[in-house]
Amino acid sequence: MPRNSKRTAHSNDPRKLDQQYVWHPFTQMQDWLRSKPIVIQSGKGATLTDHEGNTYLDANASIWTNLHGHNHPKINRAIQRQLKQISHSSALGFANEPASFLAAELIAATQLSSDHRSTTSAGPRQRSKVQPELAKVFFSDDGSTAMEAALKLHHQHTTRARPKVTPRYLSIESSYHGDTVGAMSLSHSPIFHKPFGKIRFPVDRVMAPYCYRCPHNRARPTREDARESRQCKWECIGKVEKKLTRAKRSGKPYTAFVIEPLIQGAAGMIAHPKGYLSKLERLIRQHRLQLIADEVMTGFGRTGSLIACHHEGVQPDFLALAKGLTGGYLPMAATLTTQKVFDSFLGSYESFRSFFHGHSFTGNQLGSAAALANLEILQSSSSLQHRQKLTAWFQEALRELWSHSHVGDIRQVGLIAGIELVKDRSSRTPYPITERIGIQVCQAMAKHGVLTRPIGNVIAILPIYTMTKRQVTQIIDALSKSIREVTGD
Ligand SMILES: *Cc1c(COP(=O)(O)O)cnc(C)c1O
Repeated sequence: MPRNSKRTAHSNDPRKLDQQYVWHPFTQMQDWLRSKPIVIQSGKGATLTDHEGNTYLDANASIWTNLHGHNHPKINRAIQRQLKQISHSSALGFANEPASFLAAELIAATQLSSDHRSTTSAGPRQRSKVQPELAKVFFSDDGSTAMEAALKLHHQHTTRARPKVTPRYLSIESSYHGDTVGAMSLSHSPIFHKPFGKIRFPVDRVMAPYCYRCPHNRARPTREDARESRQCKWECIGKVEKKLTRAKRSGKPYTAFVIEPLIQGAAGMIAHPKGYLSKLERLIRQHRLQLIADEVMTGFGRTGSLIACHHEGVQPDFLALAKGLTGGYLPMAATLTTQKVFDSFLGSYESFRSFFHGHSFTGNQLGSAAALANLEILQSSSSLQHRQKLTAWFQEALRELWSHSHVGDIRQVGLIAGIELVKDRSSRTPYPITERIGIQVCQAMAKHGVLTRPIGNVIAILPIYTMTKRQVTQIIDALSKSIREVTGD
């Protein structure tokens, strides 16, 4: 359609065109149509500019995707260089240079190094010596498809390797693994899934290690992260053990455990207590389950380690990566797995053991070029050093928020934080969802020049890795002011 033909009626106002034609994800469009949407025009570093010239700090890294800032010269150059070669050719039948390089880099970057092994809280003696070794990369387009591929790879592998068992999955309460039907089945979000009923295949769940709202945590509310003050007997782990044992006895053992390691994102930034993952892993290995790690949010340095599992010396059998893979520039994802899984798909052509799964844009060259540049920046000592400082500034700034009487819990894992607002702090009573407290606070923050998106009553903050101390302070000040304005305290 030529410019200015049919569009003249709207005088090319993007806001009007959006409201007339675009259906936004995870959005009550009735509210959207009554609102005055912010139209993002450009970005530079941690700053976004709208089409009216207002500037904002991008405080959730554009829904947890951006790592080194917008318009990064190195990533821009990598994409431009690739653009002059070719943007896309098919991975069905052909290899390409950037995707091959990227696969090799991803395998190298995600190896569990010996210092990760020795720092594990479980101790080297108690764990099985053999950790899975990631050796193969299956590319796709986004987090949901990376999880969908992990699920189907596990399924097909298990039916081959253990013909007597039916693949059976266990995942964590309120976990989120994406919106395609398989990924949705692995997730447990009653609100998202209600309309879909039996279209989801059955996946069992275990309680989330959500210390702040854990019925087994006997500690009274304090002004510190509930994980620190918790008083419990690891009932959450005990329940997993019980479930695994019961399933094994019944002759229908679980074959895979699916987890967002260290912190569950869309569930409301539920940070797990230290040691949970390694304790869980020990059970998983004991009971012969495969570990599917969904690091779509936690991957690429978000938690302080290139992948979150490594904090506890854990190496998964499947590793799903997406959001940060291209530094937040292009849609691309990867599912990493072991040689053993790969080998179970080998056979003669007519045995049809191939993985019959793939997408048109698999191994896209532009995405791969951006991802290679991202990894290079990520592994540079200047980025590593800055991220360390940034994490400390972030922690310090977040501490200020405890002074609000409606802040119930502050959960930080590296460069991710969830601030949970409560109606009553001493009883941990949540705000009723009808009060839309999270939405109100984020709307107030936008007026103070800071953009993020709530998850119910939890405000999520994910700084961009290049942010300055001043920018971090600006975000937390805006949040603090907004909480005061909305809650009146
Ligand atoms: C965002 C997210 C997904 C889904 O990724 P999309 O790219 O939105 O499909 C899956 N798992 C986790 C942990 C996520 O944060």
